[in-house]
Amino acid sequence: MHDDTIAAIATPPGEGGIGVVRLSGPQAYTIAQAVFRPLHPGPLRPHRLRYGYVVDASGAPIDEALCTYMRAPRSFTREDVVEISCHGGALPVQMTLARVLAAGARLARPGEFTLRAFLNGRIDLTQAEATLDVIRAQTTAGLALAQAQLGGWLAQEVRDLRAQLLEPLAYLTALIDFPEDEVPHQEYLPALQTSLEGVERLLAGAAQGIVYRQGARAALVGRPNVGKSSLLNALLRVQRAIVTPIPGTTRDTLEETANLDGIPVVLIDTAGIRESHDPVEQLGVERSRQALAGADLALLVLDATVPPGPADRVIAELTYDKPTILIWNKQDVVHNPDLVAPSPFEHPHLLGVVATTATTGAGIDTLSHSISRALLGGAPLGAGAAHLVSSPRHRDALQRAADHLRAVLASCAQGVTVDLVAGDLTVALNALGEITGEAVGEDLLDTIFTRFCIGK
Ligand code: GDP
Ligand code: ZN
Repeated sequence: MHDDTIAAIATPPGEGGIGVVRLSGPQAYTIAQAVFRPLHPGPLRPHRLRYGYVVDASGAPIDEALCTYMRAPRSFTREDVVEISCHGGALPVQMTLARVLAAGARLARPGEFTLRAFLNGRIDLTQAEATLDVIRAQTTAGLALAQAQLGGWLAQEVRDLRAQLLEPLAYLTALIDFPEDEVPHQEYLPALQTSLEGVERLLAGAAQGIVYRQGARAALVGRPNVGKSSLLNALLRVQRAIVTPIPGTTRDTLEETANLDGIPVVLIDTAGIRESHDPVEQLGVERSRQALAGADLALLVLDATVPPGPADRVIAELTYDKPTILIWNKQDVVHNPDLVAPSPFEHPHLLGVVATTATTGAGIDTLSHSISRALLGGAPLGAGAAHLVSSPRHRDALQRAADHLRAVLASCAQGVTVDLVAGDLTVALNALGEITGEAVGEDLLDTIFTRFCIGK
């Protein structure tokens, strides 16, 4: 347990109905008694809401407020926690925070409440990370994954996998002292094999989980006037993702996030902010190149009403190293709108060809499904399939665990020395321990928790 008490504003900046100042630590109760005066005098009782006033050092009211005291260990951090809800304007909340700090609390660092919940053993590292994912989720599918992880399924699976490995490790470690004995490690092979299969099962869903959680980037490229901006708007109409605004980029591209089958997809349009008089640049080659940089998927747009020309080919070639979906737009103008023409280019990574009319929305659903399938490498999530590893950190640790478990199995088969086998097994166990936080260093905790906002 920590001996200092932290405090922060837990609600977002700006005006709102209420603003919450949260405290956690051994002095939370004493500080609350000093800064909050209940209407009906008497001590704060655990898990009861009290009405009253935040008061300054002289006892004069600062704001009307509600105060909740959650006594350790029945709180978010397992420490004494106090939440003071005052009016949600910048001044009442900040004055309340200042008052709490003056009374002995220290301003919390980003993620420090959640870090304490982790350090005090209320949640494991996967649940701490899931807290952030719940806050940042952009689609209901992403939210479902985060909430399942917050529920602890991944922590439990990883703990079970580690438990399976502990006995073989204890056995092998004991044998290191008796190297001359010719030992059959065979009896542990089934347990090791089962663990490896468990790790591989978790890894199998990780690519999909990460796409749902992190989203992906898709660049709309094509000659001017083929309908890129119209397609962007049509895709956004399917369902715009909930996003917090990101500071504008300086590039000649426009980015909007669409929710395509539960995946937050950043659609990058090459819309030039400034129109160019350079004839080459008028083709949008450089802007297409910019849009494609860092994109996971290319959406190559062609005008179905005219045969593709050299300008289309130049832009098509820019996409040859990306997974690409080819879009024949302006189907409404062609005579046989149901006929999807094949690709005019020998594209090495073409994943699909779709016909659309951006102005009416025809074909946009098909396009949306093609994009989500391309990003997931298969069908979208069915309902209830929320148990997917969704963080690159977890995937990388599982990958290391799998590699070393395979080495252990191979070594057992070849009869190498016991200490080598034990070494690989220890690495595998530690890799799994990094996921739940049972084996982590300070620097890893720092990188994880500084991604949080203050007050969480
Ligand atoms: P961009 O330069 O590639 O972004 O193309 P825009 O989206 O700005 O579209 C250029 C013009 O084509 C506009 O006048 C659009 O209304 C029109 N347009 C876009 N998509 C379609 C379509 O599917 N059918 C028809 N008939 N016109 C379209
Ligand atoms: Zn445009």
